Amino acid sequence: MEYYDIAETWDRKAIARAQGIRLKNTVAQAIKSPHYSKVLGEAGLNADSIGSVDDIRKLPFTYKEDLRKAYPFGFISVPQQELVRLHASSGTTGSPVVICHTQDDLDTWADLMARCMHMVGIRKTDIFQNIAAYGLFTGGLGIHYGAERLGCLTIPAGTGNTRRQLMIIRDAKVTALHIIPSYALYLGNSLMDEGADPRSLPPRIALIGAEPHTEEVRQRIEYLLGLKAYNSYGLSEMNGPGVAFECLAQNGLHIWEDAYIPEIIDPESGEPVPDGEVGELVMTTLTRRGMPIIRYRTRDLTRFLPGECICGRAHRRMDRILGRVDDMFIIKGCNIYPMQVEHVLMSFPEVGENYLIILEHKDSMDNMRVQVEVRSEYFVEDMRALTALQRGIAGRLRDEIMVTPKVELVQQNSIPRTEGKAKRVEDRRKLVP
Ligand code: AMP
Ligand code: ZN
Repeated sequence: MEYYDIAETWDRKAIARAQGIRLKNTVAQAIKSPHYSKVLGEAGLNADSIGSVDDIRKLPFTYKEDLRKAYPFGFISVPQQELVRLHASSGTTGSPVVICHTQDDLDTWADLMARCMHMVGIRKTDIFQNIAAYGLFTGGLGIHYGAERLGCLTIPAGTGNTRRQLMIIRDAKVTALHIIPSYALYLGNSLMDEGADPRSLPPRIALIGAEPHTEEVRQRIEYLLGLKAYNSYGLSEMNGPGVAFECLAQNGLHIWEDAYIPEIIDPESGEPVPDGEVGELVMTTLTRRGMPIIRYRTRDLTRFLPGECICGRAHRRMDRILGRVDDMFIIKGCNIYPMQVEHVLMSFPEVGENYLIILEHKDSMDNMRVQVEVRSEYFVEDMRALTALQRGIAGRLRDEIMVTPKVELVQQNSIPRTEGKAKRVEDRRKLVP
């Protein structure tokens, strides 16, 4: 096995030892910020409270709301002149959450990202196209600097303009891509619509992430584009991409525990869930100096995967993100996550790549409608076939989510696409006075 750096080879003992030391240092550093000096001060905690990694449970959680309230610089732990970059998370409402980095922070981040890319077989000989929004979104610069650190010929393609993206992919003989899953499907299908074969495109590896997607969607992307697609997880508060990444085994994402402490808790009680059960991921930075964040409530739902990975890395694996605590919606008393719906829809070969869940309140009842794109080759005139498909989907959805939604079949590319992360749920109930 080839490794990018030594921390990848650490065993559990080495990881725990480093985590203990780094957590203590993190607390010592964080307490220099206005936010943590207040919060930790009030709780009577400081670096001396940390003897080992298990002491993390003494520390308070940090919520997105705390970051919002501290906007813009309430979490900064170094003199301002040491900061060299500011990013923001993609939240759409309220004041933004900004994350600032020192040059050392950026260097560590680039190394983590390069490690991820190296793990899935990308090397300096690769030509790498980064199809992600540059700017405040971390998927642009975060992945970019990782690819350059690895030594790839790196193309900052940005988003949009599918024609030009494809032209560069072909002309530069791009071998690896970073692309959001919903856009990967769109790109492949646009080529099919033109009568071209997306499988003949040169890339052999895609990094896909930034938005929740099911295993079925990954397989579709792999088949459609004729490449291997690896799940990339990250969030701005923890730098961005480079937090957790699939290895060649494609069986869960290794969380880089030399740089983060992951915990999985019950979102209601805040207590750890039994190992292997689904809960909210909580993350602590271990190497960041400019803006350390302690026990951040990500709102992302996942579980630790049991056992050791066949790749030999001891860094714990998490399951793909199963949803967000805030994405859950309730219809007729049933708790539903959009990924449950996607899981069912994508198991139908007739179903295209885009879908939209619409929640409405009508006649004092909550209703769920699912608009589903049907692939052009299946969108036949035969009403009976379409009705059978519609019933089939509704039935399978009922088995999965315990509610029978209204299923509407629509033509391919008729559901409006959002630039950037896909929007899967439209809750119109909130509009009702
Ligand atoms: P942002 O900080 O704006 O980049 O958004 C981070 C959020 O994007 C995470 O908290 C997740 O909800 C989501 N996300 C990022 N990567 C993935 C992934 N691989 N799978 C599912 N969701 C993801
Ligand atoms: Zn592995």
